[in-house]
Amino acid sequence: MKYNELRYERIDVEKRRNSMNEYLEKFSNAESVDDQINAILDVNEQNKEYHSYAAMASLNFSRDINDEDAKAEKDYYDSIGPDMIEIGDSFEKAVDQSKYKDELSKKWGEKFLTDIEISLKTFDPKIKEMLKEETKLRNEYTKLTAGAKITYEGKEYNLAGLGPFHSNEDRTIRKASYEARFNWFSDNSEALDDIYDKLVKLRHRIATTLGYDNFIELGYMRMGRSDYGPNEVANFRKQIVDHVVPVVKKLVQKKKDILGLDHLFFYDGINFKEGDPKPKGSPDHLIKEAQVMYRELSNETGDFFDMMVEEELMDLVNRDGKRPGGFCTSFPKYDRPYIFSNFNGTDHDITVLTHEAGHAFQCYSSRNQPLLSYLWPTMEAAEIHSMSMEFFTWPWMQKFFKEETDRFKYKHIAGSLSFLPYGACVDHFQHWVYENPEATPKERNQKWLELESIYLPNRDYDDLHFPKTGGIWQGQLHIYQMPFYYIDYTLAQTCAFQFWIKNQQDSQKAWNDYVRLCNAGGSQSFTKLVSLAGLELPFNDGCLEKVVEHVSEWLDKIDPKEL
Ligand SMILES: [Zn+2]
Repeated sequence: MKYNELRYERIDVEKRRNSMNEYLEKFSNAESVDDQINAILDVNEQNKEYHSYAAMASLNFSRDINDEDAKAEKDYYDSIGPDMIEIGDSFEKAVDQSKYKDELSKKWGEKFLTDIEISLKTFDPKIKEMLKEETKLRNEYTKLTAGAKITYEGKEYNLAGLGPFHSNEDRTIRKASYEARFNWFSDNSEALDDIYDKLVKLRHRIATTLGYDNFIELGYMRMGRSDYGPNEVANFRKQIVDHVVPVVKKLVQKKKDILGLDHLFFYDGINFKEGDPKPKGSPDHLIKEAQVMYRELSNETGDFFDMMVEEELMDLVNRDGKRPGGFCTSFPKYDRPYIFSNFNGTDHDITVLTHEAGHAFQCYSSRNQPLLSYLWPTMEAAEIHSMSMEFFTWPWMQKFFKEETDRFKYKHIAGSLSFLPYGACVDHFQHWVYENPEATPKERNQKWLELESIYLPNRDYDDLHFPKTGGIWQGQLHIYQMPFYYIDYTLAQTCAFQFWIKNQQDSQKAWNDYVRLCNAGGSQSFTKLVSLAGLELPFNDGCLEKVVEHVSEWLDKIDPKEL
């Protein structure tokens, strides 16, 4: 069946509430653990249905934000979200008080109950209206940024469409296109500040209503983090400052030589004088090549990717009215993932494809996990699948980049390493924001600039006014949409680099470890999944240092001028 043939419907909240009451009764009156297990599995099926339809509604709107019908469906699912959380919450409370907890834990592992404990701490009927308000504000951000119409050189672009000019080989084009981008942000900065200010204060209020000092602890629980906290994260960020920032400084120096420039400005983001490597061929051609690649990589990935193509489970190319960004979503009722992206002719198209395919492959691999909550792991674990897939597909990059393959690889590694300080900066910023919910937009921007000087000391915006005021973070959608979802990329990158190293040493073993990790889905917590995959935990002192040493050794051996 193709994606658009999958059945979709609006579910009825009252019906759900009634059937949940029946399950609750069954569960509470159960005279054996098996009766409780059956009730849990029934609820699980209902949840799968709800999550599938909600994901479809959201996806259809992302594919065309100007489609009124799609908007109405998405609005419907947004509006019932908090009610559905409330309905689920009542059942989770009952499970949390079950007299058969030990047996349930034996059946599904301890994560089943930990997930429920965390989930219960993030909700109370008292915050229901505030959650609705939060969704509204998040949607305002999407609407504003997805609807951006930027005139550049007489033509109109959206934010993703402008992207290729930022990495043009001509410096004046790079700078002018960034000017166009930042003029749009400057024109909309008040609106963006207003949305964020409301979000921060609202999240703070939600947290204090639930009994927390501020939003941070709640934010971590919303991310489902059960086995580490802000202290571990702060220590990890410090390791990035100590071990990665100096290497990035060296890379900047190297780039000056490559580009033949005596100073690098923010808009000199390209890696080669002639511009960054570009994928060769039309999107259709690239997808055909990807299909061959996944067949050659392994049987599992071959079957998986053929299915993605045949069942039209991907929407990859940028077009007007499409929401920016790339993501993978899933319809658990149908055991199917879906990939969304905005190809725009840059090398990013290929990394997005392999990245999102990594997510989708994991989701597909864990479709036989017994519980919906085990389908996806927490995000820092999920990003291991995606970022490692970017590396596992390296032997096939020739198909996409031809004579520019080595350049792509250099850029990929240098870029992945250089990303770490930025990721830590975004994370640090958010900790400060939620510790200081009363800060003004201006103070937030000042803080951003202060953190940039620690994590990104080489950034020089030249005379680009908007980023000089400290507002550049407004373009980072996670900050608005999913607070604290960012350090995840840096933790996962540290793990993905380990897979990259392993793959060079013993590719079969590395692949087996990877597939084992994918199959486990979300059945275990982050630290346990890392050890299941045979990787070292990024929080451990020395782990990042070792990884960086290996990566920079590889980079040192390459003279980019010869590529
Ligand atoms: Zn991802």
